[in-house]
Amino acid sequence: MVDRSNAKIVIVGAGHGGGNAVAALRQMGHAGEIVLIGDEPIVPYHRPPLSKAYLKGTAAMDSLKLRPESFYETAAVTLRLGRRVTSVDPDARSVALDDGTAEPYDILILATGSRARRLAIPGTDLSGIHYLRSIGDADAIRDAVGPGRRLAIVGGGYVGLEAAASALSLGASVTLLEREDRILARVACAPLAAFFDRYHRAKGLEIRTQVQVEAFVGDGARVTGIRLADGEILPCDAAIVGVGAEICDELAREAGLTCERGGVVVDENARTSTPDVYAIGDMTWRPMPLYGGRMFRLESVPNALEQARRAAADIMGKPAPAHEVPWFWSDQYDLKLQIAGVPFDSHRLVIRGSVEEGSFAIFHLAEDGRILAVEAVNRGPDFMAGRTLVGDARVIDPERLTDVSIPLKEMAAR
Ligand code: FAD
Repeated sequence: MVDRSNAKIVIVGAGHGGGNAVAALRQMGHAGEIVLIGDEPIVPYHRPPLSKAYLKGTAAMDSLKLRPESFYETAAVTLRLGRRVTSVDPDARSVALDDGTAEPYDILILATGSRARRLAIPGTDLSGIHYLRSIGDADAIRDAVGPGRRLAIVGGGYVGLEAAASALSLGASVTLLEREDRILARVACAPLAAFFDRYHRAKGLEIRTQVQVEAFVGDGARVTGIRLADGEILPCDAAIVGVGAEICDELAREAGLTCERGGVVVDENARTSTPDVYAIGDMTWRPMPLYGGRMFRLESVPNALEQARRAAADIMGKPAPAHEVPWFWSDQYDLKLQIAGVPFDSHRLVIRGSVEEGSFAIFHLAEDGRILAVEAVNRGPDFMAGRTLVGDARVIDPERLTDVSIPLKEMAAR
């Protein structure tokens, strides 16, 4: 049995989850050795600005770091950056690194996140085709777009749309190609997607839905266009592929941890099926206590943070922090979208505020009237109150919900 208060903890993956696990462990008084291993060459940083402020050039690299380098020194954390873990041996309690060394552990936290899904079509080896996951990716995109450049974006999800808004602000002309019949098809309800579609078009983005991308074409070295299923070639100087993320679960699978297609299976405290091995962040297939414990995968910063804190509390034998309502945000132009909850089995939509004026909140109600989720655009107070309503699974008369003369805060009061 491991002495957990003094245990040596190894964390694999120095992103949002890994970086916050370090901080939570030290805050909770962990006195043992902590080693943070990450294959990127820098300390953990905020990924969301990569498609927003950082891409536009309005946020500097240093402002992206979750914590300055000095934090890790003061917190006596051994950083092994620019190093990839190649395997985990749970019996020997050790991880192997790509430099041939090994790092033994008493407790292991896996936080390897996800990677951008690749398109398996001809021409993907041409230069000028970008994915967006790391700071290096964002730098390369920023160098490739600018006034007069033609950018094609494949995929109308949040990353694609945010990158489109940023590229337009840099002066590029941008065409977005989406396979489905609308943008945000997997991640937002139809009225919200329609609002964003109109807004982007008004800002100059060309959106083409129901198009199948067949190949990238080039001059032998660089991409010069995208061939669509009907034979049309859309000319471009650069392309960004934003077609979702794939979890980095190879280490966990090879080590024999229980995994589902959706990720590494964890419990409410981020424990995997293997003793003293935790998993946090994008890579997990986790229970959702607010929705009857059904399993789901969340790809968001708040989720990585919540799981980092719960894992740290479990390791330290502290009471588990309260369950959080899952939430997410997206910034596009002057629009701030904030989403609380997950609209599983959404039965009815109720809109509060004005879609035309770009200030509204869409509530997802279950069949029995419970508020399941809220999607709010430029409506911070409604998002905050809506989050409480979702967390309490409150039932509120839809007429009252849409009555803007009654502050939502009042309805959310406990
Ligand atoms: P990550 O932050 O991805 O960290 C995982 C780290 O592990 C990476 O550095 C990876 O390189 C490393 N790693 C993987 N395998 C190994 C290995 N074998 N050895 C060593 N290191 C390894 N979320 C929001 O909530 N709001 C947003 O607005 C938002 N915008 C986003 C915009 C972009 C462009 C992207 C890419 C993501 C965005 N997200 C947003 C999602 C959010 O960034 C992720 O949910 C979050 O980073 C997940 O944290 P994580 O620790 O699980 O993974």
